[in-house]
Amino acid sequence: MRYKDFNGIGLSRLGFGNMRLPEKDGRIDRVKAAEMIDVAMKAGVNYYDTAFMYHSGDSEAFLGEVLPQYPRQSYCLATKFNIDFDSDYRKVFAMQQEKLKTDYFDFYLIHCITDSNVHRYVDEGGVDFLLEQQRQGRIRYLGFSCHSGLESLRWFANHHKWDFAQLQLNYFDWLYSATQQEYKILEERDIPIMVMEPVRGGRLSSLNPEAEAILHEAHPDWSIASWAMRFVLSLPQVQTVLSGMSRMEQVQDNLATFSDDYEFTHEDRDVLFKACAAFKRQVQVPCTACRYCCDECPMGINIPEFLKVYNKFKVDGTNGIKAKLDAIDSMSTPADCLTCGECLRHCPQGIRIPEIMTDLNERFY
Ligand code: SF4
Ligand code: SF4
Repeated sequence: MRYKDFNGIGLSRLGFGNMRLPEKDGRIDRVKAAEMIDVAMKAGVNYYDTAFMYHSGDSEAFLGEVLPQYPRQSYCLATKFNIDFDSDYRKVFAMQQEKLKTDYFDFYLIHCITDSNVHRYVDEGGVDFLLEQQRQGRIRYLGFSCHSGLESLRWFANHHKWDFAQLQLNYFDWLYSATQQEYKILEERDIPIMVMEPVRGGRLSSLNPEAEAILHEAHPDWSIASWAMRFVLSLPQVQTVLSGMSRMEQVQDNLATFSDDYEFTHEDRDVLFKACAAFKRQVQVPCTACRYCCDECPMGINIPEFLKVYNKFKVDGTNGIKAKLDAIDSMSTPADCLTCGECLRHCPQGIRIPEIMTDLNERFY
């Protein structure tokens, strides 16, 4: 495992994200997930990231069961407070200590600042409360994760000298969204970056045939996902890269990538950007499968799964699409969409979900 110094801590460059753990009967599959954590621990991964809302609260509960089996000093624990999910920061913080069975958090984040909530985090006292927890030793390093516009990010980053920040960063967004400007804002303030969505919720783990052929020709032994990891690792402000792993094969692939000392070259970057351009021509909806929209949908529509099929339809045409739509595990279908827009308020990617549900309904129902 490769490490990078963070204030005297040798932090593994791979961080274990716990928002997409394997599930069984609607909750985390304890056996499979614990095996994945154990393999990661034994391979030297020492950063474990969760949040109050992941798996509807089950992620913290699961980690509270599994992590105490390992020496507390052997890993760093990161969790988050999200004001849109529950604004009572005192209650949330106390519950997190109890669920995760710890007196302190190594890393603690203000979760998902957006243009609409960024001032509330300060005005309602959440930031001051968490700074006080840090002074009391219950938080070692305080940071934030960001899905806001650039002005909000700049404003929040200027609040005080944050210890770190978490950013959605991957080569696709680097080229086609505001990620480079976001990176620069943090770099100018020398705030170390924890990377989230390095493979865009799995979207960059397999590309279209043209893009994959370009990558395979350059490095036949690299997986498609590892290209994404190697790119973010090559950025100097990046500290640790989080991967939300769902299967043991992903753990193994990441461990191989993050143990490799190979330095990503300018030539590699050129090849990757060329492949990305070929891929972009076919991508329609940039959903990362974060599922922030799902709890808000009054009809219980499994939005990210429908968006995944929608992308497939845009790439491959209508053939077989209805069968794929019918196979989705969901309380309701796009035909039941009320176009109420509740989902829109929670989508960090700004995807026009109601319009897509309407399009799917008109074409396939
Ligand atoms: S617009 Fe449709 S998909 Fe979005 S929350 Fe409302 S019912 Fe659900
Ligand atoms: S539609 Fe938006 S909020 Fe919903 S899963 Fe996709 S990226 Fe996340």
